[in-house]
Amino acid sequence: MSSLSYWHQSAQLPAFEKPQFPSARQTITTDICIVGAGIVGSSAAWHLAQRGHKALVVDMREPSLGASGRNAGMIVASVADNYREDVLNFGHDRAKALKELAVENRERLIDLAVRLNVPIWRSGFIYLADNLQEYEAFEEIAGQLNRDGFKAIYHAEDPLGRGFHGGLESPDEAVTHPALLNLQILLASNQELLPYTKVKGIEQNGDRVRLICDGIQIDCGRVLIATNAYTKTLFPEMTAKIQPCRGQIQVSEVVPMVVQRGLGSQFGYYYYRQIPDPARPGYGRWLMGGARNVNFESENNHYDESPTADVQNALTRYTKDYFPELAGIKIDHQWGGTMGFTKNHLPFIGRLPHHPQIGFCVGFSGHGMGLGHISALKAVEMLLDDRPAWPFMK
Ligand SMILES: Cc1cc2nc3c(=O)[nH]c(=O)nc-3n(C[C@H](O)[C@H](O)[C@H](O)COP(=O)(O)OP(=O)(O)OC[C@H]3O[C@@H](n4cnc5c(N)ncnc54)[C@H](O)[C@@H]3O)c2cc1C
Repeated sequence: MSSLSYWHQSAQLPAFEKPQFPSARQTITTDICIVGAGIVGSSAAWHLAQRGHKALVVDMREPSLGASGRNAGMIVASVADNYREDVLNFGHDRAKALKELAVENRERLIDLAVRLNVPIWRSGFIYLADNLQEYEAFEEIAGQLNRDGFKAIYHAEDPLGRGFHGGLESPDEAVTHPALLNLQILLASNQELLPYTKVKGIEQNGDRVRLICDGIQIDCGRVLIATNAYTKTLFPEMTAKIQPCRGQIQVSEVVPMVVQRGLGSQFGYYYYRQIPDPARPGYGRWLMGGARNVNFESENNHYDESPTADVQNALTRYTKDYFPELAGIKIDHQWGGTMGFTKNHLPFIGRLPHHPQIGFCVGFSGHGMGLGHISALKAVEMLLDDRPAWPFMK
């Protein structure tokens, strides 16, 4: 069962039609094929166009119907975990280089959204500590970030005055309309799109690659797989590497604005913001997402995008507990989307060892808006210039 998001409704999606192929045996020939038209595939299409390359983008649905049109639209320059954990897990130099890429991702997306006339705001983002474990780490994390030249503000007291212990603020982060941004990047790339065409198999064909799809075959020189959570359905050997995990969101009717920033707490399991209403200054919809941790069993290892009662109730409860003036607001939209989590929460960008024409850019672990656009650039450089996708690969 599928549930469309508020973003889909406001961008009037879905908008594309299933192509009709004159013959079931038809073969389409292209130099480069991108499988997946989410933020990663669309960004790859755009980066290829900047370098003068034509590509064919194939999606089993249409742009923005995957996670890229179902998320909270927060462009936060975080990498895998918080900066202290990333330094511990990946080493200082690598964690710093990855964070620099995430900052570059944000700045490139802000520039592009402005050029493409997609709503985007440099709202900033604050992690709010509602437990002492997080609170005690914030001062140290802010210090580490500042020493490495990244902007971060430590709040020893609750910056919102709502019962949190304190906060860690990143003032330059942004929020956007994710479905529209995804779609406009793909349209601006001017690349050919084949929607509603599922790739069911990939074969080496001499020095070329053959994609077996519903109704047609695609013969291409190189292919970039940008299927994120769905990757294991095409490559069962990736099953242990990328786990599908559902995320859920609810969006209310238009209410007075009570927050201006992107906000998160409980180790990132809750995230929320408002979507300003352009027709009514000072008003906007309340967007509350997360609560996967109330029932990992029901949220992991499937592709069902339906909202569920226990997670949605937890989101409503969080709103009521910390923003009592919003208790009882009417929820207009509830939906789910499927994220693809890797073990170390870094994306997996690389090539198949025995088939170097087949590249991957997948596994965004809930951070695809924060890392997907720059990762797509690294993947394109890897495929075109024969470069390693450093620094993501170990
Ligand atoms: C509820 C929720 C909230 C989130 N909030 C945020 C946030 O605020 N900030 C952030 O950075 N990230 C957030 N994320 C994560 C973010 O949405 C993803 O990391 C990002 O969208 C991944 O982009 P993608 O292009 O890799 O994947 P997707 O957008 O999922 O695109 C993959 C595409 O591949 C297509 N496809 C798959 N298999 C095939 C096949 N065999 N043949 C053809 N096409 C195929 C699919 O149809 C899909 O369109 C959130 C995710 C969810 C679900």
